[in-house]
Amino acid sequence: ILQLYGPLNLFGTSYRSLQKNFIDMEKMLDLFNEPVEIQDEPEAKPLVMTRGEVVFDNVSFGYNPLYPNLKSVSFTIPHGQKLALVGPSGGGKSTILRLLFRFYDPTQGRILIDGQDIRTVTQSSLRRRIGIVPQDTALFNETIGYNIGYGKIGQDHTQVFDPSRVALVKRRGTIVDISEGGGVRRTLLSGKPVRPPGKGRKHKNGSPSSSPETAGVTEGDEADIEGDGTEYDDDDDWEDDGRIQAAAEAARIHEIISRFPDAYATRVGERGMRLSGGEKQRVAIARTILKNPPILLLDEATSALDTQTEREIQNSLETISKDRTTLMIAHRLSTIVDADKILVIQQGQIAEQGSHEELMRAGGIYAYMWMQQLREDRTPLGSSHSSQKD
Ligand code: ATP
Repeated sequence: ILQLYGPLNLFGTSYRSLQKNFIDMEKMLDLFNEPVEIQDEPEAKPLVMTRGEVVFDNVSFGYNPLYPNLKSVSFTIPHGQKLALVGPSGGGKSTILRLLFRFYDPTQGRILIDGQDIRTVTQSSLRRRIGIVPQDTALFNETIGYNIGYGKIGQDHTQVFDPSRVALVKRRGTIVDISEGGGVRRTLLSGKPVRPPGKGRKHKNGSPSSSPETAGVTEGDEADIEGDGTEYDDDDDWEDDGRIQAAAEAARIHEIISRFPDAYATRVGERGMRLSGGEKQRVAIARTILKNPPILLLDEATSALDTQTEREIQNSLETISKDRTTLMIAHRLSTIVDADKILVIQQGQIAEQGSHEELMRAGGIYAYMWMQQLREDRTPLGSSHSSQKD
């Protein structure tokens, strides 16, 4: 067990930042050589969603089991409610999100969705029900339309790979895709380029699971997939799909895209156009709108966005989290004033919990954080007089 730590330190910063920000496709392929650690149980069944209630029941977890990073964390998010996680860096907020997505299993306790322990359901069915808007979104060296579309279309056309479902797993700091069973992973390992839906590849018999590469990907629940049987066997079909533009409009990125040289066909990524942090986050929001998941994990960006962009993104996030069970990591406390419940996570434990008003009245850590943030907001950037020592 202790051996785990050496290699982790060795990979140090890059491992941490990759894990945090999900990942660039090429980097991922470079590092991609470790076996999947989280496996479906032999008897695993598809997750059956009824209400979308999430329960953490006495959950403890440690990346190194000797040093727990979460200790007996319990909470319930009733259907459609929003729970916000706040607290100091390293407290365990992201770890809670990773456990719900089942990048890792708890060392103690259970995580339940609608009464089902997530260890007993197939990973593909679990992950299909959860949408993620990460802080920093990985984009393919592909067109913008493709980058938006694969969140949804990728589920129907499974050779497409979703980096928001890439887990960077603990062993030796290497990265493993544990996204949707072994199928997608094999596709990547085979070194074949991951293609947009329909690029020269057609589902035989109209059944995506008939190809070995798609095994495990479409297994389980299909309830939220339109399954319209559309075959994207022409290069442009997927770009013409009105759903992509509708999602882009809802995520307030359509106008920006329309101004790109080739609109939705403009290439982005390392060999193409660079998108700003705010634009990338909007791409992630558009993907999530297409995916239409009942459970949402949001990781608010820490990087500074201008006020206007921040407000727009905030509005889009509010729109998509409506009526969905939402677990959100918040860095700006002003964005969670209306959360149904706020947990202050500190040193792996719930230090405080309640609504914004309750926590302010209690005058504890949250109230202190709030005052501190107010003070920071009033201090212009670059003026460090208040923090200068000596
Ligand atoms: P932040 O606000 O900075 O994102 P956080 O509250 O999300 O922090 P986590 O990322 O959940 O904190 O980390 C909780 C603890 O677990 C930290 O001490 C962190 O260093 C440690 N940790 C996170 N990922 C790993 C890992 N893969 N291996 C070992 N330790 C890890």
